[in-house]
Amino acid sequence: EYADISLKDIDQVAKSSFPLCMRHLFEKLREDHHLKHGGRMQLGLFLKGVGLKLEDALAFWRAEFTKKVGSEKFDKEYAYSIRHNYGKEGKRTDYTPYACQKIISSAPGVGDHHGCPYRHFSDDNLRAALGRMGLSSRGMEDVMDKVRNKHYQLACTMTFEAVYGTTCDAGINHPNQYFEESQKILK
Ligand code: SF4
Repeated sequence: EYADISLKDIDQVAKSSFPLCMRHLFEKLREDHHLKHGGRMQLGLFLKGVGLKLEDALAFWRAEFTKKVGSEKFDKEYAYSIRHNYGKEGKRTDYTPYACQKIISSAPGVGDHHGCPYRHFSDDNLRAALGRMGLSSRGMEDVMDKVRNKHYQLACTMTFEAVYGTTCDAGINHPNQYFEESQKILK
């Protein structure tokens, strides 16, 4: 497990170190003050893997969700599954964050924001997102080429290399690995 991130740093860390799938979920949560179940699972377990403690996780989700729903509803409908993800409810399984393969093979429906943007975004949306991550048009074309050939993890690896200006020989196969590699570079 990586050095714990604290709530006050989370926006800055999301911008500097989250892979595109998690940046997207994070931004949508901040924007809509809501995420559907698949998004809450994908982002929630990733944040747990990043080292967000249960109490901070509850505070984080509560702060967004209660901009739209009452805190009683939050406690009743959402807090349970957050504690559940941390192994504090139900079978007390300590759930692990999803790997790329699982995310890529998921099937987000209308209104869902989980999934892998390299696989699930339209070309236009993906280009716009890559532009916001600072890719040059050349870098973008290289990434889009991998996407066209359905090499989504390679596309993500190339994005990583373009963003941080370094090679990633291992290749990206897990969002938490992306995060950890990026933190190594930024430290
Ligand atoms: Fe996320 Fe993996 Fe897709 Fe990259 S390849 S955006 S880390 S699911």
